[in-house]
This record gives sequence, structure tokens and C-alpha cells, in this order.
Amino acid sequence: MTTSIIGFPRIGEHRELKFATEHYWKKRATKEELLKTAQQLKAQRWDKQQKAGIDLIPVGDFSFFDTTLDAAYLFNVIPARYKQLGLSSLDEYFALARGYQSETESVKALPMKKWFNTNYHYIVPEFDDETDVKLTGSKLFDEINEAKKHGIQNPKAVIVGPYTLLKLSIFKGDKQPQDFASSLVNAYQDLLAKLNEQDVKWLQLDEPALSFDQSETDLALFTKIYESLLPAKKAVKVLLQTYFGDVRDSYQTLIKLPFDGIGLDLVATTENSKLIKENGFPTDKVLFAGVVNGKNIWRNHYVTTIETLKALNVKGEIVLSSSCSLQHVPYDASLETKLPKTVQQHLAFAYQKLDELVELDAIFQGHDQKVLAINNELFSTIKHPENSQVKSRIAQLTAADYTRLPERSKREQIQKQVFNLPELPTTTIGSFPQTKDVRQNRSKLRKGEITQAEYDAFNQAKIKRIIEFQEKIGVDVLVHGEYERNDMVEYFGEKLDGFVFTQNGWVQSYGTRGVKPPIIWGDVSRNEPITVDTTVFANKLTDRLVKGMLTGPVTIFNWSFPREDITPEQSVTQIALAIRDEVLDLEAHDIKIIQIDEPALRENLPLRKSDWYRAYLDWAVPAFRLVHSGVKPETQIHTHMCYSEFGDIIQAIDNLDADVISFEASRSDLSLIDQLVAANFQTEVGPGVYDIHSPRIPSVEELEEIINHIIAKLPAAKVWINPDCGLKTRSEKEAFDAVSNMVEATKKVRSSL
Ligand code: GLN
Ligand code: ZN
Repeated sequence: MTTSIIGFPRIGEHRELKFATEHYWKKRATKEELLKTAQQLKAQRWDKQQKAGIDLIPVGDFSFFDTTLDAAYLFNVIPARYKQLGLSSLDEYFALARGYQSETESVKALPMKKWFNTNYHYIVPEFDDETDVKLTGSKLFDEINEAKKHGIQNPKAVIVGPYTLLKLSIFKGDKQPQDFASSLVNAYQDLLAKLNEQDVKWLQLDEPALSFDQSETDLALFTKIYESLLPAKKAVKVLLQTYFGDVRDSYQTLIKLPFDGIGLDLVATTENSKLIKENGFPTDKVLFAGVVNGKNIWRNHYVTTIETLKALNVKGEIVLSSSCSLQHVPYDASLETKLPKTVQQHLAFAYQKLDELVELDAIFQGHDQKVLAINNELFSTIKHPENSQVKSRIAQLTAADYTRLPERSKREQIQKQVFNLPELPTTTIGSFPQTKDVRQNRSKLRKGEITQAEYDAFNQAKIKRIIEFQEKIGVDVLVHGEYERNDMVEYFGEKLDGFVFTQNGWVQSYGTRGVKPPIIWGDVSRNEPITVDTTVFANKLTDRLVKGMLTGPVTIFNWSFPREDITPEQSVTQIALAIRDEVLDLEAHDIKIIQIDEPALRENLPLRKSDWYRAYLDWAVPAFRLVHSGVKPETQIHTHMCYSEFGDIIQAIDNLDADVISFEASRSDLSLIDQLVAANFQTEVGPGVYDIHSPRIPSVEELEEIINHIIAKLPAAKVWINPDCGLKTRSEKEAFDAVSNMVEATKKVRSSL
């Protein structure tokens, strides 16, 4: 046994699971039909792995929605309100994942959260004092049987480990995670007993929570759990699998506990290699070396990987594996036939990564030097399109390029005078509903059914209509509605040099939702205006202020597959310069307010706090400053973020040096307001006054109350009134009614000031 992977994509090469599941939800397919599709998909992924020559094939990594939810469900971590619905187990499972509504019942879904530092989202399991943790489900065991029947003789059972399950869950009652430790250990012991009966040789327990900073209490809990769990393993070997980061604080604990294997990510960081080299790796354990990157889409450079492996100096057994589950990359790079060969040959999606593991293994065993030569050749000829102009621009940057003048307080006075806006100015975040006709118009252009002129004319009519609407209800700062944008990153990527796009590079974002991230391939630059035409068109339709709308460099970078031959800092700086050109172009075209969205700024904070500034914020914040530092004092820069957890990085956000920031606040009881006051936050703020994620239309009275609550704490002169995010997912009626109520409530509050 020498090769394995941590997990495999499950949505289907052509997103078959998405369509089958959504059909089932809409009652257009039966349960049997859905199960059949699932069965075929499972069989297909097992076949692929087996044919590629992977020795130890994971089973249990398939899921109808999310594997963390699968684990919670298996162990009966199901709140009573879902059980009371009396649904079949499949429907109960979906109720947890996405809520349930019938004529008599209405239960919300469990919350969803970002999975570590990926763009995947997991369902947060909920424990309360009544939670009776025990092994009640059968998914894992059924899949083991299914795999064996399909000819997978030696499956590796895979499930989220007890420690990570506790760390990722929420606890609604008085009982705390440690209060569930012993019942959870019992449940996992029962699981081991069953796997023993099924004659399973390996169990992989995923414990990525070890990549976060660990306190003494954390480690004590971890140790307690595994000291009591591991004696129950009998013939089943237990692999403790980590990923996304390093185990600097738990390495000593891990090597002392009687695990049979330890899985470490050797790609995300060099820290794990260092730990092995400095402390040695026990000869009685198998090292599952995560050498093939599960988070990025580039080919593995074999020479470097083999060097890394050899330098570890591990005397015992090594199994080559992926750095994390391959679910974070698309299925098959060979389907991307529209990409130039010069690009395509450097891509490795999940299928290609299987082959890479097998080839690496052969080289590592000293068998196959031919593939090594081919791989070397590939890397020696790789040519990312370079742009010498961009390079020299970056080389010439000085501190002044990151500093906007005059200082913000002076700009604030100037802008108040120039704009002469009423107190509590109203605005929206940018997009208005992307109704069916808007999406159809775009798809017609893509299919060549209409001309560019026809396409533009349609969008212009939409812009005209939305400008009129905003004027009519009395919004102060208008937007053009973003009708031309499919996605806030793809839209910019398509217009910038340096990006390439896949046809089928879907990656699961959550449940049945996928994203198709752009790939950064060459040096990024802007060769022509991106948003100038549409913004200027909107601006000419009205005497009111129209705000330009851009996506910021950090978000564009975080939601793309990045290059690996240059640093993230270099890439982000290139994107920042391109967006800077657009900002200055908008300003030159008389656009006086420009919003630069950075919804992904916070979500990509490194897992460990000690890395936040050094490894991320120290270049992410300057990149944003570089985008806007060149504008005139009277040009107002806004930014937007889709969350309200500023807590630990509140100063970094203020340091972006924007003039105004809008953010999500309505769902967090506006608790952020107190933090802003405490931090003496200087940027003007637009705390979203209602939740756009819900179809509910807030009443005027309710909104008045929220606005009053905000200005009781913050000086009204620093407050803007807006929804908490873009309106593109709402129906027109919902958006129009809610925004009208928001403006009316603002007017009422204003008159009482
Ligand atoms: N301007 C974008 C919109 O309104 C912002 C989207 C976002 O924050 N994710 O849709
Ligand atoms: Zn948002």
C-alpha cells in the first residue's frame, strides 16, 4: 500500500448530483431515482480511483449535502424540532441542511459556515442538553458494503473525527463540548466495532481542527477523547488525518498516541515537514504524506515533491496522498478543450491528481524515471504570459502609492461640502434583482442568438428603469444595478488580461451549489475600461449621484485559482493596479463615488491568528489602499463586506482608509455597533438595516427603530442607510418594497433629528 487520497469530488463530472437532488426537492424525481444517480456517481469515482491505481480508496466521503452533517446525522445529533417533523430519514437530513416548510410546519436550516480556508461551506451541527449522542445511522456502513460489492476490496472508511466534530458544532444548552466527549467516544467505539465486523482495514478520522491554534484545554480534550477511543480499534487501523495547515501544537501529542497512521499536509505549509525533521517520525506509524495539492489546479512538480519527501528522512512506511480532499478542485482537466494547449497541459484536476500520485509513487520507489523527465520538461517550458509594464510598475511603487491624501477626516469635510447630501444618506449595495429575463439576455448573447448591440440595449433599458425607480422613491446615492454581471469576480476576470476560464471547472460551494473559479494564468493588467460605459450611461440619466461598482483585488484573488510561481502578494498587487486604473478612469469620467467591494477580505484570514498579519493582512490591506490612493480628495471611496465579525481585525478594516464602508449587520443584532464605538472607528459606516437573504419585507416602523438604534450609538453624521448586501437574488417586488420602506423610514428619522 503506497497511495491514497483523502476524499474525492462528489457532485459529478457534469454536476449530476446537483440536478438529481434539486429534482428530488422539487418532487420531479423519486427517492429511488435520486439514490440511483448517487449509486452511479459513487461507482464512477471508485472506478476512476481503482483504474488509476490508488491503493487505499476512501469510502464515506460521498455526501448528499455535506460530510460534517453526515457525521452529526450518523451519531444522532439531530435537534428535536427536526425529529418532530416525522420525515423519512433522507428528508429529515435535507431538513437539517436546508430547512423544511409545509402547510403546517416551518423549520429553518442549521447554519452554514466556511470550511476552514476554502470556499466550501459546511453545515454546523447543533447540540443541546437533550442531545443523545449514539450511533443510529448507517450511511458509512452501507457505503462500505456498496464499495465492496463494487469490487473495492480494501476500502478506507472516512469520517469527520470526534474532536473536529465538537470544535465545529454549536452548543445551545448549558452543556459544553467536553460534556459530550464520553458519549461521543462511545458512539465512535460502536462505529469501530461495526467496521471490525465489516472487516475494514483502515479508518480515516478527519481532524482538520488541529490546524487552528490549540489551547491547553483543547489539547486536553483531544487527548482525553483519543486515549479512550483508540483501545477500541482492534483490527481496524486508525489514521489521524489533518489538512489545510500544520500541527505545531499537537505534534508531540499525536506521535505519542497509538494511531496507526498520521496524515499531514505538506503543501499548505512547510511547518509540518519541519516538525517531522526536527522531532522525527515514529517508525511504528505510517506517514500519509499530503504531497498532491487538493486546493489548487496546477500539475505537481515531481522533482520538488520527491526532494521534500526524501528530506523528511522518515524510516517507516510512507503513503503518498493528497494534501486535503480533492473535492476542492474540479473533476477533469482533459475536458477543457477550449483552453490553449499551453495552458491545459499544466492543469491537474481530480482525475489528473490520481495519476500524479501513482506516478510520484513509482518515482519515489525508484522505478519510473521516464515520467520524471517528462514532468521536468513540462516545467522547464512553462511560460506564464509576462507583462513587463506591470512588472516595472510594481518595481516603482513607493509608500506614497499606498497613501491617500489628505487624511480621511479632512476628506470627510470636503466631501460633505461637495455632495451636500442629507443626513443619513441612503444607498444600496449595487445589484438589483437578476430576474429571469436578465439571465436569458446574457445566455442569448453567449449562444450567439443576439448581437452585442441588442444585448446592451436590453441592459440599458433595465438601467434606465432602475435609475427611475431609485429617483422616484428618493434614494440619495444611486446604482446602475449590475445587470451585466454574471458573477462579481468572473465579470472582472473576463475583462482583465491574465485570467483564463474553464468550461466545466465546477467546485462545490455548498450542498448543490457550485462555483467555477477563474484561473490566474499570466500577469494581470487592464487593457480597456471595464465598467466605465455602463456607469457613465447611468450617470447621465440622472442629476443625482451615481456610484461606480467594482470588485476589489483581494476578493478577485481569493475567489480565483491562484498562480504558484509568484507570491499571493505579487498577484494581488497586479490586480490592485488593474482595478486602480479602472478607479481613475471612472473618476476621469465624472463618477464621484466609487465602491470597491471586498466581501472575501475577512474570510481568507489564515487559520492561525499568529499568521494573520504576517501572512495575509500585511499585503491584503495595502493592496486595497493601492487601488484608491490616486483619487482626488472629493472623490468618495466606499467598500462593502458581507459580514459583521470585524472583531479582531477592526483596525485593519479601518486602515483600508475607505471613506465609507457598508456591511452585514442586521443578522447579528447590530452588536458590531458597540465594537465600532469602542474601537473609535473612523470610516463612515452603513450597517445593513435589513437582511436581504430573507424574502421577508421589513416594515417602515421596524426600520425606523433599527435606524434609531444605530444613531443612538453612532454619530448620525457618520452613518449611511443601506440593505446589508446586493439585491440580485431577491424578486423585484421584494427588493422594491423593502428599499422603498428603507427610504421612507430614513426620511421619518431624519425629520425627527
Ligand atoms: N456589489 C455587489 C452586489 O451588490 C456585492 C456583492 C457581495 O457583496 N457579495 O451584488
Ligand atoms: Zn455583500
